[in-house]
Amino acid sequence: MPTKIWANSADAHVMEPEGLWKERMPADLADRMPRSEKIDERTERIHVDGLSFERPLPIDPIISEEDMEFGGLAARGRKAGGRARDLFYPPGWNDPHRRLGDLDHEGIWAEIQYPSIGLWNGLIRDPVLYRQGVKVFNDWLKEAFVDVSPRYVPAAEISTRSVEDALSEVQRVADMGFKAVNVAVELPSDVAPWYAKEWEPFWAALQDLGLVVASHIGSAPPEISEGTANTLGVMHHGPGGAVRNYVEHCFSVQRFATMMVSSGILDTHPGLRVLVSEGGASWIPFIADRMTEAYRQHGVFVRPKLSRLPDEIIYEQVYASFQHDRSAVQAYTGMGYKNVAWGSDYPHMEGTYGHTQKTLHELFDDVDEATRYRITQGAFLELFPHVGEPPGDLQ
Ligand code: MN
Repeated sequence: MPTKIWANSADAHVMEPEGLWKERMPADLADRMPRSEKIDERTERIHVDGLSFERPLPIDPIISEEDMEFGGLAARGRKAGGRARDLFYPPGWNDPHRRLGDLDHEGIWAEIQYPSIGLWNGLIRDPVLYRQGVKVFNDWLKEAFVDVSPRYVPAAEISTRSVEDALSEVQRVADMGFKAVNVAVELPSDVAPWYAKEWEPFWAALQDLGLVVASHIGSAPPEISEGTANTLGVMHHGPGGAVRNYVEHCFSVQRFATMMVSSGILDTHPGLRVLVSEGGASWIPFIADRMTEAYRQHGVFVRPKLSRLPDEIIYEQVYASFQHDRSAVQAYTGMGYKNVAWGSDYPHMEGTYGHTQKTLHELFDDVDEATRYRITQGAFLELFPHVGEPPGDLQ
């Protein structure tokens, strides 16, 4: 086993610069793009296209040495003087050139990148604002990441208010060198759902252009009531709330993967590849069995008929990323699910920054070389072959 394990990351995020919209859009539009306003130490207010709601900020306690060791955060915590807020962001979080240094240090070769504040884009109601906003965002992604290094694989944003707008942006970003499109796991209720016939040309275009459908947990539209939003972190309160909220996030991606298979979208577009990020991987064999049982035992009710069984489709066309889960490795070694891809979730707190090598060694020191290669590099390379292998002399 090599001392340093190199891995591609099937889950990472960019942080949008504060002035991004104001610098690149007319003021009346820029003001309505998603932004966060800090109310006090404990609360932020999110503003999107005339909507606004409060959500709690992570509290900023002094973290004990014990907690830091437990979370693998020791190195970051000591550097940050033990303040939780400062643990969140590694040195290169807002600088694409310094970020490469973080990746080298951690042993990450290439990474797919999702937005951060842009995870609220689904709340934009004005189609003009949505269309213009994603163009500005994608232009910035190209300049800041695509043009800086082939190791960066940002997922382009699309407007979901109009199929025509989504289609023209998909064509534009393919021409700009993007390899993936960020697809929310669910659409707002006033938009045709992903499986509606209106979206058929969208899936066909992604397949034809070779763009990966990149989906991230927490991307279902938030339900907003009484000025608070129940997604992107906070749905449950009380005992166990933090853990319940974290587990909750993975259910929406399971629904999304089930829909992509059972609706026939993946069957009729066999070249389409879906990456589901941050939701773990061992649920795929379970969902696969469950769908195939339904497809056979409830066959009389099942529409549409598929040319392959659901378990074959999900095993072949859906890829899933995880950070720490030991069961994800066993989904590959024990359940025959090959599309398991490791992810760092850089630069987020639940990710592996500061302890990536420790995590990779814990996961892979006792498995064979082929398993390690497949999960750390091979599955990702199937989706994004252009990133290539890390040079052999890299340490
Ligand atoms: Mn993530």
